[in-house]
Amino acid sequence: MIRANQAEEWDKADPLAHLRSSYHFPKDANGRETVYLTGNSLGLQPKAAEKYLLEELEDWKELGVEGHTRSRRPWVDYHSFFQSSLARIVGAKTEEVVPMNGLTANLHLLMVSFFRPDQKRNKLLIEAKAFPSDLYALRSQLRFHGLTDDHLILLENPDGSDHLHTEDILKLIEEKGDEIALSLMGGVNYYTGQLFDMQRITKALKAKGAMVGWDLAHAAGNVPLALHDWGVDMAAWCSYKYLNSGPGSVAGIFIHERHHNVKDIPRFEGWWGHDDKSRFLMDEVFEPMKTAEAWQLSNAPVLAMAAHRAALDLFDQTSMEELRKKSVHLTGILEGILLEIDQKHQTGWRLLTPADPEARGCQLSLFIPSEGKALFDHISSHGVVADWRNPNVIRMAPVPMYNSYSDLYRLQQIILEFYEET
Ligand SMILES: *Cc1c(COP(=O)(O)O)cnc(C)c1O
Repeated sequence: MIRANQAEEWDKADPLAHLRSSYHFPKDANGRETVYLTGNSLGLQPKAAEKYLLEELEDWKELGVEGHTRSRRPWVDYHSFFQSSLARIVGAKTEEVVPMNGLTANLHLLMVSFFRPDQKRNKLLIEAKAFPSDLYALRSQLRFHGLTDDHLILLENPDGSDHLHTEDILKLIEEKGDEIALSLMGGVNYYTGQLFDMQRITKALKAKGAMVGWDLAHAAGNVPLALHDWGVDMAAWCSYKYLNSGPGSVAGIFIHERHHNVKDIPRFEGWWGHDDKSRFLMDEVFEPMKTAEAWQLSNAPVLAMAAHRAALDLFDQTSMEELRKKSVHLTGILEGILLEIDQKHQTGWRLLTPADPEARGCQLSLFIPSEGKALFDHISSHGVVADWRNPNVIRMAPVPMYNSYSDLYRLQQIILEFYEET
């Protein structure tokens, strides 16, 4: 177990500790800050979000339509004010990323361009336990192309294992790679927290000639990414999980530059993808932007983007490498606490998340064979915000941006109370 003063010392030595005060923490019933471990589901609100939003509301109030060009940050260019921050987080060139729409909508739009089945190569690859929305999107795309679920290759966990093994994935790619038109796995699995070896998997798929996309909903802002260098074709993510940009806020996409400015790429188009120099000439003929921005359909949702910008400004105060360094330590401490409590109280718990820090982000998923819901209710009523998944799984994500070692000490004491009282 960790001691309170040990946790305090780690907090004092933590070079990122100051970032915590830039976020609002929900309060528990006693008005105390909660132990917030649900950044994997909805990241905390950056304090600056309110100011950024109010500025846009003010400009709208004062300027009306003129705000498009005359506001402090002209709305026509709004996404460009944080595009480079976004690019750094996912390891891309600025022109390879663009914020737009919602995640599932973007998965569909990207499949229009990157899932082009033909006689020989017509399968989609995804993990069997992917986030349901992704499975719905992929299956409906198959139907859209007149194909069936037979064209979906599902990566199943080997018997007795809670996760996939890179070697098995590579073997499957070796065997079936010639049939795969597009792979669209989650970079970090939402349920187990498993982080896939995106670099090796991408390389193997590219060697077989498949298109490679990644759903980075649980990876963006959680683990370092190098989408450009890995040669990923496309990716998509949401901004409300580790990117702390608010409920349902604007999502983002990555398109590798090798696909920019390609004449015959199939794409669903709209006026915001039109060359911005001549967009307002309202010509009937579509002249695409020469960047990922060609995939934009509509003008920017500025109010959502204001919160997104506030959140990304905080990422600019650090780096994914620094965040990752703290994250590995923080999650390791949480793992140690859970393993010790399990030993002491013979709880029968099982971590569904890989033990190897290289194979996980910050989230740990704990399978609790009995009393799971009672334990969850206990910690919830004592100021811990975690997440319950049927059957019997508690997901906890200590987020390096704003969680502290003292948070984990409090969690430890609250869990111990449960076992020592019952
Ligand atoms: C959170 C999440 C989603 C949610 O999709 P939205 O379109 O943002 O509602 C989809 N896919 C994955 C993998 C997720 O983790």
